Amino acid sequence: MMRSVSSVPSAVPDEMPATLPSNISRPVPRRGWQYWYRNSVTHIHEERLPFRPCSHDGSCQDAACSCYKANITCEKTCQCSDGCERRFRGCNCAQGNQVCWMSERCDCYQLNRECDPDLCGTCGACEVLDPINRYNDKVAHRKCSNVYMQRGVPKRTLMGHSDIQGWGLYMGEDVKTNEFLGEYKGEIVSKTEGDRRGAVYHYRGIEYLFGLNKCE
Ligand SMILES: [Zn+2]
Ligand SMILES: [Zn+2]
Ligand SMILES: [Zn+2]
Ligand SMILES: [Zn+2]
Ligand SMILES: [Zn+2]
Repeated sequence: MMRSVSSVPSAVPDEMPATLPSNISRPVPRRGWQYWYRNSVTHIHEERLPFRPCSHDGSCQDAACSCYKANITCEKTCQCSDGCERRFRGCNCAQGNQVCWMSERCDCYQLNRECDPDLCGTCGACEVLDPINRYNDKVAHRKCSNVYMQRGVPKRTLMGHSDIQGWGLYMGEDVKTNEFLGEYKGEIVSKTEGDRRGAVYHYRGIEYLFGLNKCE
C-alpha cells in the first residue's frame, strides 16, 4: 500500500518558539583550523606566549583574560565558562586511512598540536594512547597518527661508525617518509652559544653539534 508523503507526520512542529528557554544551553561551536589561522597565533610556536589557564566569570573577551590577550585558544584546563567559544575542542576526524596526519581535515594537525584523547573523540587517539596498547601497532592501524610524542615509542636506532664523522646513528628498522623517529630531548642552544661551544669541541677533537631548520 502506498502512502502519500503529506500523511507522514512531520518531526518539526509548525510553530517553534522564537527563543530557546533559558534552561537549554546552546551547543558550543567547534571552530576549524581555518578560523584559528585567521584569528589567532595559537599555531605559531615561535610567536605564541607560554600558556596559562584563564579563570574568570563572563566571556574571555569581556574579562580580557590571558588567553584573549595572548591571542591563543583557551584549553581544556581553562576555568572560564564551559560554553567558551575560544576554547579548542579537538578534531572530529573519522577513522580510516591517514587519520589525523598531513590532512586538511584535521584541526589538530593543522594547528601544530597532537591530538588529545580528552577532546578528539572520533579519531581513535584514546585507544592508541591506552598504555595497554603501547607496543601494539595493530591497534594503531587506521587510527589517529597524531599522538607520537604522547605515545613515546621511538623507532629502533643503532649507533655505528660513520663514513662522515666519528659515530653515527642509523635506523634499525624500516621507516616511511615523514614518520616519527623519536623525540629530541637534548639541549637547544642559540647560534652564538653553538659557535662558542663548537670552537671548544673542535679544539678537543669532538663534535656534538647539529643545526636545526625551521621545521625541526
Ligand atoms: Zn578566558
Ligand atoms: Zn582560557
Ligand atoms: Zn584529527
Ligand atoms: Zn585531534
Ligand atoms: Zn587524532
